[in-house]
Amino acid sequence: MGYAPYMDEKVYRMAVRQLRNVARILGLEDEVVEALMHPERLIQVKIPVKMDDGSIRVFLGWRSQHNSALGPYKGGVRYHPEVTVGEVVALSMWMTWKNALAGLPYGGGKGGVRVNPKALSRRELEELSRGYFRAIARFVGSDIDIPAPDVYTDPQVMAWFLDEYSKIVGYDDWGVVTAKPYLLGGLKTRITSTGYGVALVAREAAKKVLGGFEGKTVAIQGFGNVGRWAMYYAIEWGAKVIAVSDSKGGIYNPDGLNFNRLVEVKEKTRSVINYPEGRKISNRELLELDVDILIPAAIENVITEENADRIKAKIISEGANGPVTPEADIILKEKGVVDIPDILANAGGVIMSWIEWCHNKMGCWLKDEDALKRLDEKMSMNFDTVYSEWTSKYSDEPMRTAAYAIAVSRVVKAMKLRGWI
Ligand code: NAD
Repeated sequence: MGYAPYMDEKVYRMAVRQLRNVARILGLEDEVVEALMHPERLIQVKIPVKMDDGSIRVFLGWRSQHNSALGPYKGGVRYHPEVTVGEVVALSMWMTWKNALAGLPYGGGKGGVRVNPKALSRRELEELSRGYFRAIARFVGSDIDIPAPDVYTDPQVMAWFLDEYSKIVGYDDWGVVTAKPYLLGGLKTRITSTGYGVALVAREAAKKVLGGFEGKTVAIQGFGNVGRWAMYYAIEWGAKVIAVSDSKGGIYNPDGLNFNRLVEVKEKTRSVINYPEGRKISNRELLELDVDILIPAAIENVITEENADRIKAKIISEGANGPVTPEADIILKEKGVVDIPDILANAGGVIMSWIEWCHNKMGCWLKDEDALKRLDEKMSMNFDTVYSEWTSKYSDEPMRTAAYAIAVSRVVKAMKLRGWI
């Protein structure tokens, strides 16, 4: 197999290690691993932007189209000053598994632009977004590759993507991106959907291992799109959220935190640590609290071999991508912690994107409650499938192994049916 520069990157090597591990368990041939190690297509684009001061700056962007055996590529676009090609390729591989596990008619893709969007004016951001999409336009489309938001991209960026694409092809291909603003074919429930799913799988796991969800204590790291809505639904379904955090630190109250009050404090003061009725704690303390359920919903690699042994939660629902390292996975399993892997727990967003895309294809719109009902059914069913596969076949391994085994086998089966391998 040839060499590509992204193969030297740590994050890419971790993704391949996970693939090799599941391939060993499933008894897959080396040639299958080789066929899945690399993206089917990797696009690098140069995006010149005329800055407000008249100068021209050039940004680099990528779109990695990992695998299309199950359908068009699907996955977000991230704007971040440290995005690398290896990260984009690894994330596109994880999207292949996440979409396959969720039972969606999609392959996996991911995009990234190496930029600090917070340092751009709105006009510069718009020019960058249009420039990126123009550069990848011939490789995307509602039946080819369907981007969506990721870190530091949002429905406004999707609106610019859609508009730029429509100008190029000469019509509105509504399904070319998802998580669009409501007026442009989006769903109001998209913003809450990942957090909804993260809380839902925690609820389902609690029913199995803790005898129910009501009254159980929950700690949540991260109070962004995912953490905030996970908190909302955890409370809605009867649990008690006793700690939350953001990048500045955390707040703890054993009697429970109030959602609306916390949102207000976060909006006014920019951090949850200013919530008055509670004790300030560090992010590290939050992870190690004596709670029933822990939801890491901020960044990757927060539970490692260094702190895994001190985790007291009985259930972890991975809202973030990659919050638990492979070494920590094994320690948690030995301690009896039920860790619901990211590709299962945080799939609510892409499932809602699929519902949006189906609407766009049909030219009609569901009511919010119907969309949430579809999401609930699909996430509950997916959780049950993984849980029963785990307990019946892979009980000596972390739940992640069962999730990966299901996802990778589906992709490999589709590749075999198509005659690719
Ligand atoms: P966000 O930017 O809206 O929120 C992130 C939160 O994490 C913020 O509250 C921020 O203050 C906090 N944070 C940042 N650094 C931190 C640190 N060092 N310690 C503690 N908290 C910190 O992002 P989001 O959309 O909520 O995404 C969070 C995670 O979930 C990411 O890993 C993302 O890839 C993953 N994810 C998001 C979605 C989605 O639909 N938004 C879907 C799947 C996975």
